[in-house]
Amino acid sequence: MRKVAIYGKGGIGKSTTTQNTVAGLIEMGRKVMVVGCDPKADSTRLLLGGLAQKSVLDTLREEGEDVELEDIRKRGYGGTWCVESGGPEPGVGCAGRGIITSINMLESLGAYDEKEGLDYAFYDVLGDVVCGGFAMPIRDGKAEEIYIVVSGEMMAMYAANNISKGIMKFAQSGSVRLGGLICNSRAVDNEQEMIEKFAAKLGTRMIQFVPRNNDVQRAEINRKTVLEWNPEVPQADIYRQLAKAIDENDQFVIPKPMEIEVLEKLLMDYGLMA
Ligand code: ADP
Ligand code: MG
Repeated sequence: MRKVAIYGKGGIGKSTTTQNTVAGLIEMGRKVMVVGCDPKADSTRLLLGGLAQKSVLDTLREEGEDVELEDIRKRGYGGTWCVESGGPEPGVGCAGRGIITSINMLESLGAYDEKEGLDYAFYDVLGDVVCGGFAMPIRDGKAEEIYIVVSGEMMAMYAANNISKGIMKFAQSGSVRLGGLICNSRAVDNEQEMIEKFAAKLGTRMIQFVPRNNDVQRAEINRKTVLEWNPEVPQADIYRQLAKAIDENDQFVIPKPMEIEVLEKLLMDYGLMA
């Protein structure tokens, strides 16, 4: 089983990209579990058709410790298993705690066991800064393969560089590696070339360029991935390409994060080319 985590700045498109890519993997016949690791608990909405998914932390709060696997995972599109970690009550406790609790619980209840026949576990992790609970999938070897969703906007690249620092730190003692950058376009000038260059500087590659496209919103309103909503539109093919690229990926690296000055120069160079 491959353990994949998707990181990136808030709002960059992690949940959208993860679920659409998972739909692509489902079309390829893969068996997948998606574990939402964002206190917002909206990582599986498109796969579940909008069904409210009770989070692991809420389930624990309401039912005590005596929880069964079927209480915390739900079948979604194409048989995907969907789990939402959830978060603490607002203002109370570390927002990353849900991740630790959920992964431990899924492990002890056997969600990753051989008999489940999973090809992939995907973690959709909030994380501009890789700290506390949000670093847990990386730190404790829960995720071995990281993809960072980024755009050509400075703060998204800044976050990607920070996440790379976290991966580098834990890669030395563990098995976590960076699998690539996913450019989720914000239609910035020279974006594709700049992110390719940025990826090269990090020692990785841009594994897919995902254009900004309103069909993503049209599908989202219908509580579906693009592939389920309309399998014929061009954006569906983009996510199929990304699913295939991840499935075939064999380039896993320890990233080389850069100094802020280098990052700023990159932005300046490409910005001035416009
Ligand atoms: P995150 O999980 O990183 O916080 P989301 O996946 O929730 O971000 O995405 C934020 C919003 O951006 C969503 O409402 C989604 O519709 C939109 N979005 C994401 N990717 C695209 C895209 N390629 N084209 C158009 N809209 C997108
Ligand atoms: Mg999200």
